[in-house]
Amino acid sequence: MVIFKKVKDIEEYLIAKKEEGKKVHFVPTMGALHEGHISLINAAKTNDSLIVASIFINPTQFNDKSDFENYPVSKSEDIALLTEASCDVLFIPPTAEIYPNDHIAVFAYELGKLENILEGEHRPGHFKGVSQVVSRLLEIINPDAVYFGQKDYQQCMVIKALLGQSSTMKPDLIICPTVREDDGLAMSSRNRRLTETQRALAGTIYQCLVSIQAKQTTDSFAIVQKECLNLLKDKGFEPDYVAIAKAADLELLDDYTNEPTVALIAAKIGDIRLIDNMLLN
Ligand code: AMP
Repeated sequence: MVIFKKVKDIEEYLIAKKEEGKKVHFVPTMGALHEGHISLINAAKTNDSLIVASIFINPTQFNDKSDFENYPVSKSEDIALLTEASCDVLFIPPTAEIYPNDHIAVFAYELGKLENILEGEHRPGHFKGVSQVVSRLLEIINPDAVYFGQKDYQQCMVIKALLGQSSTMKPDLIICPTVREDDGLAMSSRNRRLTETQRALAGTIYQCLVSIQAKQTTDSFAIVQKECLNLLKDKGFEPDYVAIAKAADLELLDDYTNEPTVALIAAKIGDIRLIDNMLLN
């Protein structure tokens, strides 16, 4: 695996590889890699692909300073995992390469309600930061395809909106299924900060999603939502939301419908905020 830190160097390298006929398949991450990230690398493998991963803990998407400061870092383990997964290129830039003083954002994007509901409501400014870093990374890598995890469902919708509004960035957007631990907990870099007790309880979020799915033909969502909120609170979580929304555009729903629907949960246990979601139908 070739490792780059400088924008200019990776740009030159990728231009040459594209001239050789390679398709650049890009997997952006913030590091502290786990099997979920590696599933994106595996999905990106095709006969003619050059797989590029990035590791950049983007300061502009953290609304919570302590979350940013405590975000796990495991650079040498990450490099070992990516090498083992046959990733071709790793881009691991310092902040000044991503946000040099003279860099001007390429275009202004309009995220509409996506910015103000669910994660947008509870993490003000988060999706502006996500849009900023993703558009900057896409500008540098200029990939043919970009891979994201369904684990961050609303983020996928934001990226879709971003790409829809750009006249220059047109990679294929590939959304990959959520990889889970044995008890259903969605893999996440933040899981490694859970204490043993918190970890034992963390699967409750998945249990709630399963029950939201199972009860869609028998109960009203208001009842199931209440049960989930109570269960989460009983187990020591502070839930931010237990919601259902149209899968296509995240329009929030009061009750189950026959349209494709996604259930979404965000809850804090101790200092750690976990999110997860499940498609219902
Ligand atoms: P992050 O490093 O948390 O920014 O995640 C980088 C990418 O990996 C994002 O597209 C995430 O949605 C994706 N990802 C994170 N966790 C998982 C998981 N458990 N399963 C699949 N993809 C994931």
